[in-house]
Amino acid sequence: MILVLSGGTGGSKMVDGLAQAVGQSELTAIVNTGDDADFYGLRVCPDLDICTYVLAGVVDARGWGYADDTFRCLEGLATYGLDAWFGLGDRDIATHLYRTVRMGQGTPLHVITAELCERLGVEATVLPMCDEPVRSRITTPGGERTFQEYLVKHGAKEEITSIRMEGIDDARPVPGALEAIAAAERIVIAPSSPIVSIGTILAVPGIRAAVAARRRDVVAVSPIIGGRPVEGPAHRFLAGAGYTECSATQMSRIYAEVCGTFVLDASDAAEIPAIEALGVRAVLADALMPDRPARVRLAREVLSAVGR
Ligand code: GDP
Repeated sequence: MILVLSGGTGGSKMVDGLAQAVGQSELTAIVNTGDDADFYGLRVCPDLDICTYVLAGVVDARGWGYADDTFRCLEGLATYGLDAWFGLGDRDIATHLYRTVRMGQGTPLHVITAELCERLGVEATVLPMCDEPVRSRITTPGGERTFQEYLVKHGAKEEITSIRMEGIDDARPVPGALEAIAAAERIVIAPSSPIVSIGTILAVPGIRAAVAARRRDVVAVSPIIGGRPVEGPAHRFLAGAGYTECSATQMSRIYAEVCGTFVLDASDAAEIPAIEALGVRAVLADALMPDRPARVRLAREVLSAVGR
């Protein structure tokens, strides 16, 4: 079994590539839930849903949400003068309704996630990082924002002065997560946000130590190419977490304790000596995944970088 730690839009590309490379039944994903939010009483888990929809083959071409969804409900909310800034599609809402109904019955998130996966025909094992609510809170000069307020409502334009993870101390890895980390043949850290996706997963008490114990078999993929995130505001989150540099080398510094091998884009080859000076093996690849063939190609290269 191959284990992948993943966020949403970036991470799910690697999840898809690995699923194509090794087969879904051989893949387990531990997914960030620090971006989760409640809208109109519905629990929305964006990263879990992106990974699940990708594995089910029903994700929309834009990379999130259900394919060819309509937004009639959201339009109706806007008509009534209610908040409509978070893109909840009509078919997507069924997922959030199902999750919320099951949560109201006292069912833990990891069980609900497995149920959703089964109904959508996903054969991979998708685990939320924890069942307890953990929420990334983003402080900007304009005030503290929830993750989705920062990213979607305010368009990630604001500078970040600090980030905290509400609820992290009370979080516990879901049943099976530590066992999967210990048993995995290899562990892949997807090219997700190092702070608010992978950083959150590793901050769940017990997970960082369990991954560090497997360091030799852990390979991380850089989300930073040419000193910039491939997409999204990872540079702002890095700055908000106190890192002045945005580079593949900075990624390796953040991951050096948990990964023995680091895959960076071939265009960043000049960074190899700085990365290897950290005691991390650096491997070059074309780290861009513009389409599904590129995902499986990179997934194979990433696995072969750790001898599989
Ligand atoms: P979120 O949870 O939706 O914010 O998404 P993730 O945390 O999973 O991923 C965001 C990161 O994915 C960003 O830092 C991007 O730079 C990175 N990313 C997106 N597409 C690619 C790609 O094709 N290759 C690589 N190497 N990184 C990517």
